[in-house]
Amino acid sequence: MADKITIIGGGLCGTLMSIYLAKRGFDINLFERRPDMRKNKISAGKSINLALSTRGLRALEKVGLDKEILADAIPMYGRMIHSKISELSYQPYGKEGQAINSVSRGRLNTRLLELADEFENITLHFNTRCIDVDVEKSISTFELEDGSHKTVQSDRILGTDGAFAATRGKLQISDRFNYSQSYLHVGYKELEIPAGEAGSFLMEKNALHIWPRGAFMMIALPNPSGDFTCTLFMPFDIFDRLKTNEDVEAFFKQEYPDAVSMMPTLTHDFFKNPTSSLVTVRCFPWIKTDKIALMGDAAHAVVPFYGQGMNCSFEDVIVMDDCIEKNGLNWIKTFEEYQSLRKPNADAIADLAIQNYYEMADKVGDKHFLHKKHIEHELCDLYPDKFKSQYELTTFSTTPYKYALDQGIKNNILLERIIAEGAEEKIKDPAYMETLWGLLD
Ligand SMILES: Cc1cc2nc3c(=O)[nH]c(=O)nc-3n(C[C@H](O)[C@H](O)[C@H](O)COP(=O)(O)OP(=O)(O)OC[C@H]3O[C@@H](n4cnc5c(N)ncnc54)[C@H](O)[C@@H]3O)c2cc1C
Repeated sequence: MADKITIIGGGLCGTLMSIYLAKRGFDINLFERRPDMRKNKISAGKSINLALSTRGLRALEKVGLDKEILADAIPMYGRMIHSKISELSYQPYGKEGQAINSVSRGRLNTRLLELADEFENITLHFNTRCIDVDVEKSISTFELEDGSHKTVQSDRILGTDGAFAATRGKLQISDRFNYSQSYLHVGYKELEIPAGEAGSFLMEKNALHIWPRGAFMMIALPNPSGDFTCTLFMPFDIFDRLKTNEDVEAFFKQEYPDAVSMMPTLTHDFFKNPTSSLVTVRCFPWIKTDKIALMGDAAHAVVPFYGQGMNCSFEDVIVMDDCIEKNGLNWIKTFEEYQSLRKPNADAIADLAIQNYYEMADKVGDKHFLHKKHIEHELCDLYPDKFKSQYELTTFSTTPYKYALDQGIKNNILLERIIAEGAEEKIKDPAYMETLWGLLD
């Protein structure tokens, strides 16, 4: 008989994992605490739209969803920086044609659920909130909508229940389980720039817009309906200071003068939408024998500034599937390999994401940083086989995040050396660059 697997959390990671496992013939029960989002118009939580890039697309490709999701996505080829005096400057993300893609979280989650529902060996359960897991016996307990409880026995459990996972909570109280959560001093609030006439875009459609202001920033991602979802990232104490409509209007007029004229519902949205916090969660181990494994945000919640949380969670799915392919029904080996392959990379993307906050909020307007970025772009164009930027490695490749993190540090040393030597022109000379490539080893 096929292994019976309980997946707790029907968000992005859990639903995709259920499809991969069903394709291998396992018997899957997927439990989600919220109602079925295919029937109820509920938000998928957190951000309305997400940047989907190479790693996530690769995971979707394996279940045949990549093209369909891309057809509804808006490619963003670069950052459009809005200065305080409403000047615009554009920084491409990668080489020509390389883009990150703005997708609707709700639509993506819904499509995954629809696809999962097509498999006879997947049973979807909604309004079932996991309240306990007995890891040794592989029994999960759920609270149903009417307050009653039900227990489910299976061969193993996958915890994909997000950043505040109940499954992880259970492991947390077991011996030698390491856990840390750290909140950024910055919170976020979603706002809106609606579409113009006949669904037109009021700003450049194919860009991720950023209003960097040092201690805080706003970003905006385009939606197919012509509107932009803006996210204001700001220290909580500044949020607290904005108490009235007048406060908000004055603040936006001063900081985001070009945006405010496109935000007719600003004050309404500002006071209606929650101010949410941003957490990095690190823990270890992610597994217990062959009984339970944590995946996605349940194992490694990261702040959203590299646009990689979902992409990384989808990559977990590929790696878990590869381990099953390699080890067959030897689940201990599968779980151990999955954990040892993913943990260093999850730590790396957590660091990269925090680093990128400071880059986006502060440095994208800084002259030295922009000069360095310019040289970096030139090197990428001149020596594509030898030089890859950290952004390219993270976003447009599937090389391990840890490699991207380490290579970024080396790239920075090389770029600073070029600037210190005043060698910006000399980089075109392969003989000069030959003296520097050793810095990247
Ligand atoms: C503001 C913001 C912007 C982001 N932008 C990006 C981006 O641009 N690109 C990107 O790649 N990532 C982004 N992310 C990260 C991304 O949202 C997460 O990494 C991704 O959602 C992780 O998927 P998951 O399935 O592990 O968790 P989730 O999507 O959180 O899914 C967990 C699921 O488990 C369910 N659940 C929770 N508790 C229980 C329980 N006790 N019982 C049963 N079910 C339960 C939840 O209802 C949910 O459906 C962003 C995050 C935030 C906060």
